[in-house]
Order: sequence, then C-alpha cells, then structure tokens
Amino acid sequence: MINSKIIDIDLQHIWHPCTQMKDHETLPLIPIKKAKGVYLYDFEGNRYIDAISSWWVNIFGHTNEYISKRIKEQLDTLEHVLLAGFTHKPAVDLAEKLTKLTKLDKVFFADNGSSAVEVALKMSFHYHKNMGENRPLFLSLTNSYHGETIGALSVGDVELYKETYKPLLISSIQTPVPKDRTKESAYRALEELEKILEKRGKEISAFIFEPLVQGAGYMHMYHPIYLTEASKICKEYNIHLIADEIMTGFGRTGTMFATQQANIIPDFMTLSKGLTGGFLPLSVVLTKNEIYQAFYCDYNKYKAFLHSHSYTGNPLACSSALATLELFERSDVLGENKKKAKYILEKLEKFKDLKNVKEVRQRGMISAIELKGYRQEERIGLKVYEYGLKNGVLLRPLGHIIYFMPPYIITYEEIDKMIDTAFDAIKGLL
Ligand code: PMP
Repeated sequence: MINSKIIDIDLQHIWHPCTQMKDHETLPLIPIKKAKGVYLYDFEGNRYIDAISSWWVNIFGHTNEYISKRIKEQLDTLEHVLLAGFTHKPAVDLAEKLTKLTKLDKVFFADNGSSAVEVALKMSFHYHKNMGENRPLFLSLTNSYHGETIGALSVGDVELYKETYKPLLISSIQTPVPKDRTKESAYRALEELEKILEKRGKEISAFIFEPLVQGAGYMHMYHPIYLTEASKICKEYNIHLIADEIMTGFGRTGTMFATQQANIIPDFMTLSKGLTGGFLPLSVVLTKNEIYQAFYCDYNKYKAFLHSHSYTGNPLACSSALATLELFERSDVLGENKKKAKYILEKLEKFKDLKNVKEVRQRGMISAIELKGYRQEERIGLKVYEYGLKNGVLLRPLGHIIYFMPPYIITYEEIDKMIDTAFDAIKGLL
C-alpha cells in the first residue's frame, strides 16, 4: 500500500536520472525505507545487497554509525556558511588531511564530481592564460567518462551520453586508451599519444584521465605504466595532468589513490563520491602551489579564479569526509580489502567456464565480468538487474558488463551471496 502510493506520486512528479522513464511502465521503481551496512530495505520487507555502493559512493556501509555521529555533532554547531571571506574548522581540517594524503598543496572545494571536473578544466586553461599562453584544447582518453555537465561531457567519450549534445561541447580530442591490461598495449597507446602531441601539443591545456579503471566506460582497465610514461611525455609539452580520481579514489583500486600505482603526482586531482563515505555531496580539486601562484597577484590584474558554487565546502559534508578519513586511520582498511579482493577473484574463476563470458577482470575492490554474444537491443544487463533484485542483490550492469563495487565493510558471506546471485543470473541467460 505504502509502496504503490509512493510510486504513484513519484511518477507524477519525479524525473529520474539516467533513466528512460517509459521503462517504469513495466519495471517497478523500488521505494527504499531504510539502509544499514551493505543492505537497502524496501517497504515490503525485502533487503538488497548494494553491490554497486549506490553509484560508487558508499565505502563504509549505509548509515555508518561513526560518520552519522560526526554529522549530527556538526549539525548543531554550524550547518553552513559561505566559503568566500569566511572559513570553518571542518574545511580547514579536511584540506590539511587531503593535501597530506595526496602530496598536493591546495584544495578548491565544489559539491559534486562533474563540477570538480569543470573547475580543474577551467583552472588549467586559466593558468596557461595567466602565463601568457592560449591553449583552448583538452586531451582525454577514448572511452573515458568525466561527468554530465557540458565541460565534463566534452572530455568524456562514451557515445551514449555524448552524441546528442555534440554541437554544444567545448574542444577536446581523444587519444587511445590502452586496449587491455598488458604493458604491450600501454606502450602501443603511448606511441599514439606521442603522435598526437607532436601535432597539437602546444594547443592542449591538460590531459584528463581516469587512472587505471574507466568506470562508466564499461569498467575498462589498463596498466599503470601507461600513466607513468604519459606523465613524462605531457611534461615535455607543458600539458597539465588532471587525474580524475572521483571513482578510483579512497582505496577502490587497492591503493588510497590509483595514481600511486603509476608513481605519479598529477597537477590536478578531482575527488568526490567516496570522499564523504557516501553520505553527502562534496567534491574537491587539489593542485600544486606552482599553479596557485599563477593566480596570486593584485586584484586589479584580474587573474583570480572567480568560480564558485553556493554549497562550496559545506561543513556537514566536510565533517562526513573527516569521519571517513578517520575510519581509514583507525584500521587497516586497504589491507582487509586486499584479502577480500583476492577472495572475490578466486570466486570469479567459475565464471570463466560459462560460454557467454568473455573476460573477468579486477583491480582492487572493482571486479567486472564482460559478457559476449549479445546485441545491444537485447538489453541483457537489464535482465541481470531484474534477476538480482528478485534475489536480493542490487547489480546495475553497464550494458553487457556485470560488475561488483561493494562497500568495503561487506562480509565474506555477503560476497558469496552477491557473486553467486550474479553467477546464477548469467548462467540463466544461456
Ligand atoms: N568522473 C568520474 C570518473 C565519475 O565516475 C563520475 C560519476 N560517475 C564523475 C566524474 C561525475 O561525478 P558526479 O556524478 O558526482 O557529477
């Protein structure tokens, strides 16, 4: 009863993200009443393992008590204040911690992933301008995803999201992402990068990339050596590196940040999603002193970075981010994840025997199964999604890629349930 009422009112008034709303004529919406740990609970007594961390944001479980407590304490102290002309302790403490962790110097706050990408692109372009150079072009990897706002969409390369808006986009070109996880394909892709930079290197402000794993680009993975070497080549042309760690940050790929595996420190790093443990929207762009200095001068020279969002550095969101970072400090999260990732990989062995499985891949707490033999119109992922929901697991495949990106607090038993359900779903397609 409650369920159908919520659904009726929802469908009257809400336009959902990334959804063909007509699908809901046959695919029921699921109102969620509450959540705890890896579980989402609906109004009918069903529970679902959140195997995708609610769009990759949740890392320590839903309604995590430690993070909740810290937000509640902040709520009665200071809920919000503008960050221009004013500051507050949660933002200051967070900036201090993030700069230490990333080895970068300055933090610019925003409030979602796409806006952080916009900030990084604008800052990079503006830096070159302040230094007397015009570089109106951005470089990114084929198959990349950086968000949905116009700038972020422009540097992305997933046709499904981009095609319609092509006439609106800013200038960007793409260089091939390494074809797979081998070193050989990384070196082949580097040859292509060199060719592009030889031709257009002087026009390019920045090279933006998702380090090691392209999330929305079907969980495509590549070797870290690509970034190690690409970083050197870009330096020769004075092109900034923007590491978009919005999905990969905070331990997802096995290290705190994926760029650590390539041994590089980018000029800009964008962070969001796991930053607040999945509680509140917040994003940051981290950068170097050297870049900051190019904007630092008398006001009347008009070199300041005049970008702002109303909720920039919101104290509640900063408190949840601080609590999240403290949870990393309190226990060996990355060590435990390593054991879990190994267990997941062992469990994924059996998928290789299925005739409709092309590849199984993993990087840290991200695992993906690529299916083969299906046409796009068959919407095979939707069938797996529906099977998962009927059986208590929220899987949200990307096309024919079934992936797992659970909260880190998932138990071994819950891993079994998550993977066995996906196995039955995929086997059931045969
Ligand atoms: N960059 C990457 C790598 C992402 O995965 C995403 C979101 N999936 C974004 C940017 C955009 O973040 P948001 O959805 O918060 O705008």
